[in-house]
Amino acid sequence: MQPLIYPDLPGPSPLLRGYAGMQNVILRQKKTIRDVDVRGRRVLVRADFNVPLDEDGTIADDTRIRASLPTIRYLCEQNARVILCSHLDRPKGVVEERLRLALVANRLSVLLDRPVVALRDCIGPEVESAVAGMSGGDIVLLENLRFHPEERADDPAFAKHLAGLAEVYVNDAFGASHRAHASVVGVPEHLPAVAGLLLEKEVKTFRRILEDPERPFAAVIGGAKVSDKLEVLENIISRVDLLLIGGGMAATFLASRGYGTGISHVETDRLDAVRAISAQATELGLRLLLPRDVVVAERLEAGSPTRVVPATEIPDGWLIADIGPGAADEFSHELSRCRTVVWNGPMGVFEVPAFAEGTRRIAATLANLRGTTVVGGGSTADAVVRFGLDDRLTHVSTGGGAALTMLAGRPLPGVTALDDAEEP
Ligand code: ADP
Ligand code: MG
Repeated sequence: MQPLIYPDLPGPSPLLRGYAGMQNVILRQKKTIRDVDVRGRRVLVRADFNVPLDEDGTIADDTRIRASLPTIRYLCEQNARVILCSHLDRPKGVVEERLRLALVANRLSVLLDRPVVALRDCIGPEVESAVAGMSGGDIVLLENLRFHPEERADDPAFAKHLAGLAEVYVNDAFGASHRAHASVVGVPEHLPAVAGLLLEKEVKTFRRILEDPERPFAAVIGGAKVSDKLEVLENIISRVDLLLIGGGMAATFLASRGYGTGISHVETDRLDAVRAISAQATELGLRLLLPRDVVVAERLEAGSPTRVVPATEIPDGWLIADIGPGAADEFSHELSRCRTVVWNGPMGVFEVPAFAEGTRRIAATLANLRGTTVVGGGSTADAVVRFGLDDRLTHVSTGGGAALTMLAGRPLPGVTALDDAEEP
């Protein structure tokens, strides 16, 4: 059987590290709202107001709305006429009353302390006349883009109608920028198209850690399934000095090394891919750590019996629910020596308090770290917010899928579609 730690040699191999950095072609420089004249002009802002809703239909978490405020405030200061648009949830191309954006307009209005007018559609004559009546500094919010099936289909006529409302397009929707939808990639074909301040911050943060991180640089990867994260693992492995694996995916890594994993879900079709990642870690001379111990349970539910066991001795009939206290100590110790950490995927089923400790320990370690700490991934962001530690991290991404796309080293269509910055 193979060891849990790969390899025993410490430290990175500088030669391979430098080469990995040179390969990067994630993005070229793009124009931002500071590079165009928006004074007095009609500016269409694609924002990401896709906020979680409570069962009674109120906004459960307004982080994404707050994250869009700097761009909106900047445009108001420039006396622009601000036309906001977004999707909310997944209406199937039809109007769903509970997903109207008036909800978001009200919250925005409170946060900005100025009126935000919610329109009842996002294209059409009524929208056009409302926009025609705007003065500098006014803000309107178009209706949920996904009430029209043309949004997801990237319909050219729909994109042209949206573009027709404005003179400048701003993409500030990092969380939607991995989608080739009309408001993300269609509209910028028709207008000067630039990045908003949130999009700029998100993209710059991921670029910096991927291309020029302060070292040592660690990645903590967890979550339910290795198949969701293979591309991320394959991209990040040539960039980091340390790779820590937790979550449900640890089972597939353990199985790939010949250990029993009880009734944990093992992705048998990914065993070879996982072995290749371990082999690459050895080849690159970086440390890849699996949890040395785990919390196992009979069921992934509150109230289920639990035990802490060495990861190499998972009993039959039990499954991995969290990393164990020994693993949390070891991971925290390793991370505390790093200057840059990126984290995607919880260490356990943190939604159940009995299985949240590993995730909480990692969050606390990052909160105390003196260096750059970046969280990407919807559930991981939820977890750090739940622990009240989000303010103590360098950056908690507003985009789940978009963050994964960047960590996988793939371009974001919504960024590619923007105008290139002029050569310095
Ligand atoms: P993110 O949204 O941050 O990218 P993922 O979507 O990959 O993260 O994973 C989040 C989910 O992984 C959570 O719902 C969590 O309950 C689940 N998870 C974590 N550890 C385990 C485990 N050991 N077994 C099953 N599910 C797990
Ligand atoms: Mg997720």
